[in-house]
Amino acid sequence: MTQMSLFGPPEGGPNPKPPSDQLVPLNVLITVKAAPHPSERYGETVCVAGLSIDLQRRGWIRLYPINFRELASDDRFRKYDVVTVTARPNPQDQRRESFRPMLDTMVTERHLEPWRPRRALLDEHVQDSMCRLNRDARADANAQSLALIRPRSVDGLDVESHPGWTADEQRKIDAYMRQPDLFSDQDRTALEPPRFRAHYRYHCQEPGCGSHRQGVLDWELVAFQRRLAGASDDELRRAISAKFLDELCSPTRDVAFYVGNQAKRAHVFSVLGVYWPPKRLAPRQRRR
Ligand SMILES: [Zn+2]
Repeated sequence: MTQMSLFGPPEGGPNPKPPSDQLVPLNVLITVKAAPHPSERYGETVCVAGLSIDLQRRGWIRLYPINFRELASDDRFRKYDVVTVTARPNPQDQRRESFRPMLDTMVTERHLEPWRPRRALLDEHVQDSMCRLNRDARADANAQSLALIRPRSVDGLDVESHPGWTADEQRKIDAYMRQPDLFSDQDRTALEPPRFRAHYRYHCQEPGCGSHRQGVLDWELVAFQRRLAGASDDELRRAISAKFLDELCSPTRDVAFYVGNQAKRAHVFSVLGVYWPPKRLAPRQRRR
């Protein structure tokens, strides 16, 4: 349980947490799969988040921890799958959106193909002020911790060498590698950091916004680098920019960022993924 606990909902925040330990059935549109993070017990864990589409519980939901090595494959569920899962509020996490999923109850109901059915559920949850989320999180660690923010402008993507795991992360990896192998078929390899990390720079729509710079914690940034393992550093750096800036944040897209904060540092938000449906012209614009 470290910084890998992210995400939040529309104005006013999510529902209050149910009493601790109460099992809750959730119906969630998965929108975010964060990059894997070292874990002493599992090798790595992943935070997944999405929108609860249950009418009784509309709002953002964080599911953590998820241990992909125990699932049949990384494709067990994908972004924009609608899943049902039983979960309980995470007692070690003050954030209202956080639930601990019981993975053996997870069922994928359907997959939403772009972009119309996704927009129908997500567009009303787009917010315009990252500045406000930052202010709220500073004032209250239990403020909204997951959101979908539409920037006024995407100003750049800084791609830089990954500094490697922190001492604490490396300690967890070492501890995991030392564990006796109880499950012979388990893939006990050390989690490698990706070659590069990246930060988006953008302005949100709040008047006077001084700009935001947020690290990218999207699983896809790691997977993308894995697929291009044979590329030189320069090639890889250019490819990351071409994909995550030029393509995902193209002017032809209605770009918004899925953002989430950290349980222990509530004021630090990261970009967990990009929402990039094709731009729709407003009726007024179309007539011109
Ligand atoms: Zn701002």
